[in-house]
Amino acid sequence: MLQTRPIDPRGIAQAPGAERGAGVASPFAFDNSFARELEGLYVPWAPTPAPAPRLRLLNAALAEELGLDVAALQGEAGAAIFSGTRLPAGAAPLAQAYAGHQFGGFSPQLGDGRALLLGEVIDRFGQRRDIAFKGSGRTPFARGGDGLAALGPVLREYLMGEAMHALGVPSTRALAVATTGAPVYRERELPGAVLTRVAASHLRVGSFEFFAARGQKEELRRLAEYAIARHDAELAGRDERFLGLLQAVARRQARLLALWMNLGFIHGVMNTDNMTVSGETIDYGPCAFLEAYDPATVFSSIDHGGRYAFGNQPGIARWNLARLAEALLPLLADEAQAALALARPVIDAFPAWFDEAWRAGQRAKLGLVRAQPDDAALADDWLALLQAQQIDFTLAWRALAEAAAADAASEVTGEAADDAQGAPAPLQALFADRAPLQAWLARWRARLAQEDASPPVRAAAMRRASPWIIPRNHRVEEALAAAVDEDDLRPFERLLAALLRPWDVQPEHAALAEPAPPEVTARYQTFCGT
Ligand code: AMP
Ligand code: MG
Repeated sequence: MLQTRPIDPRGIAQAPGAERGAGVASPFAFDNSFARELEGLYVPWAPTPAPAPRLRLLNAALAEELGLDVAALQGEAGAAIFSGTRLPAGAAPLAQAYAGHQFGGFSPQLGDGRALLLGEVIDRFGQRRDIAFKGSGRTPFARGGDGLAALGPVLREYLMGEAMHALGVPSTRALAVATTGAPVYRERELPGAVLTRVAASHLRVGSFEFFAARGQKEELRRLAEYAIARHDAELAGRDERFLGLLQAVARRQARLLALWMNLGFIHGVMNTDNMTVSGETIDYGPCAFLEAYDPATVFSSIDHGGRYAFGNQPGIARWNLARLAEALLPLLADEAQAALALARPVIDAFPAWFDEAWRAGQRAKLGLVRAQPDDAALADDWLALLQAQQIDFTLAWRALAEAAAADAASEVTGEAADDAQGAPAPLQALFADRAPLQAWLARWRARLAQEDASPPVRAAAMRRASPWIIPRNHRVEEALAAAVDEDDLRPFERLLAALLRPWDVQPEHAALAEPAPPEVTARYQTFCGT
């Protein structure tokens, strides 16, 4: 049984409206394995009904992918469901327990303070997906919080998650946004909203820390067995499965971090409760993309020490994985020393796993198919160039892809792609001091000469590795402000549409792809998604 101190166990009996919606055909074919198999590791709890629900966004493409009855989720019916006011039949809403290291300090009890797992569905690809609410009212884990979410942060999470997915980054997704009609009080009064989030699961590093810290080995084992069945089924029943789980999570995180680092994504709050076992990016709060390349970049208003700065992220991922390893120790071996001897090599291997994935991603962005020993230096020197001249990370990588395209075209036409200075114009325009660029381009072209791919094939591949558009911080803020202050979702929808095709040049959205003026970026601060 969940040790509920200081959670009030009366909450379970008091959970309001748990039967709402029962007996009615459901748009969701729920199959709730977490509720069924992990009793005692959560608190059953119902969402708080909204006074004036209004459906603001429904992700029809995702709904289709999930095999949902989209027609039954539109309009008033959708508003009632996605605001938490009417529970769809088959839902078994619950608040998950988890702990977490936040900015390095351990909080033994966090949990779903304002979120609920409604249930799970099997999608069209046979994958089990969580359907969860965020902002649906207080739960027994709410501590001092109001259990609510404001429309702005909910829209931010929707936009960032969908943008990341379109960029090929594993991410939780957004299925719907409903406003509740109830105000949320932050620095000012804001419209309240509920995000419906879809995830491969909501298992976090902090989920394991919760039971490990309480010495609840049996619960810890059940959770680990569940994680294995759900994410690493090939390990099920094997003797060394718990070590295998640690390895698999570390491998997924290495790949995820490599993607982040090659796109310029800063999560902003990489606490262990915000790191998944599935390898999906989760909890878009103070996240932001880099503009001018600088590994020390921090946007989060609460990250005073720069713990979660862009360049620190791989190291923090490893630190978080060490916390997962510690939590799993009791399952690895009876003897603590023996367990440590098993876990340590995984944590020690993480930097190499990350490097392998990160370098492979860089090669793709450089147009290289083969791996050669000097490739890392070529990539490092490119990044050093960007840093020295404070060049926009996204524009620079994309201009390099365009340079490859220009080279490919000039091979066909016989006309020089470069001007007298040896670099195509869009790339040149980014650099105030062009001499180091020319020198680097000469090395890059010499390296390309050792590749087999035809220039047009290479250019196309490079355009698929370096996006034309990412969510620009000032454009995100603009879109959220229009939605919140003017009740106008059009800027949000326009930005979302552009971000769903990140690799394509979209002249009609050119203004959305441009960096903010440097003085705006210098002042830019993000805040936690409360
Ligand atoms: P986050 O910073 O969103 O990752 O949340 C950290 C912890 O605080 C989690 O346990 C959340 O459930 C909880 N939390 C954040 N905001 C609220 C809120 N407004 N009401 C209740 N709990 C919250
Ligand atoms: Mg969180």
